Amino acid sequence: MTTFKSKLPNTGTTIFSVMSQLAAAHQAINLSQGFPNFKSDQKLTDLVSNAMNSGHNQYAPMPGLPALNKTIAEKINALYNATYHPETEITVTAGATQAIFTIISAFINKDDEVIIFSPAYDCYEPAITLNSGKTISVNLHYPNYQIPWDEVKEKFSEKTKMIIINTPHNPCGSILSESDMKQLEALTTNTNCIVLSDEVYEHIIFDGHQHHSIAKFPELRKRSFLVASFGKTFHNTGWKIGYCAAPKTLMEEFRKVHQFNVFCVNHPMQHALAAYLQNAEHYLSLSSFYQEKRDLFLEGIKDSRFSFVPAKGTYFQLLCYKNISDEKDVDFAKKLTRENKIASIPVSVFYPLNHDHKVLRFCFAKTDETLKKATEIVCNI
Ligand code: PMP
Repeated sequence: MTTFKSKLPNTGTTIFSVMSQLAAAHQAINLSQGFPNFKSDQKLTDLVSNAMNSGHNQYAPMPGLPALNKTIAEKINALYNATYHPETEITVTAGATQAIFTIISAFINKDDEVIIFSPAYDCYEPAITLNSGKTISVNLHYPNYQIPWDEVKEKFSEKTKMIIINTPHNPCGSILSESDMKQLEALTTNTNCIVLSDEVYEHIIFDGHQHHSIAKFPELRKRSFLVASFGKTFHNTGWKIGYCAAPKTLMEEFRKVHQFNVFCVNHPMQHALAAYLQNAEHYLSLSSFYQEKRDLFLEGIKDSRFSFVPAKGTYFQLLCYKNISDEKDVDFAKKLTRENKIASIPVSVFYPLNHDHKVLRFCFAKTDETLKKATEIVCNI
């Protein structure tokens, strides 16, 4: 037996794999993992085939295909009135996950503190730990999951080298307001703290709310990485393509690591995305597309025994079951998968100490048919 010292001794298989496997084993409707069960636009897949057939099958340039970087810069400029230079301030990545891992690896040294907000998307903490940093968690609470800025100020010090925000928020479906961004700006101005802004759901925001990208705040932008994902936007999470944008000096440091953990990203898909992004409707229509799905789901379960606050963004809806059971959320989610044939994600797994508000996360990026079946099951629980 080979022995070794684990760098992540407390990390097991992610809950997403666990619940998806359980859903498959019990033929349950899988609203656990965050991916659509419908197809990506045929126009986009045709563009990929064309790019492959035209011979774009070797390495892409390290920072990204110039045409794609340019289109991304134009998109950010049109949406958030912010200028990023396509050659020096934007890098195409293997999904948001690789961007996040690379940013943390590039900037976090031993014992540096990183503030995250829990429940937090699960790839932040292991990346901090692997780089010998220290995760400082600030808890957000059901049902509104607002950031307690006083607590953030107390935990913020010279040791704080990074703050990671996520808006719209997975798993909560909450969003950061302009006032939140201003608080963050005031806290970090004149410090050496970098902000990692995970905005993979930037185009999925409901009820007329606005997305407050880091890019909209000039003082914040100077110290920030904006992280985005095409997988969320164009219904193809399996392609694992995203990008990040940051001022030149930060991006130079990022690329020192990026070139050695992937070097470059899938070339034909970058050609396809550069062409597809020319039509802004392809992403601007996403909010209304998903709002209809959220509303279908919520209308279908309004008479159920679950309580909820409608998601303001993302394709996740939290449902609280405290009127139904006092079982632990992990146990309850597994039971629903086995017995009621519907899989969800227990939210306690996103807290460092597994805070249990009796809340489950359901993904509504599914066909209307799947959602209708799911609502019937939820109403019978
Ligand atoms: N951040 C958040 C908040 C996410 O929900 C996800 C995907 N579930 C990611 C990052 C990772 O995105 P990608 O699939 O592009 O790596």
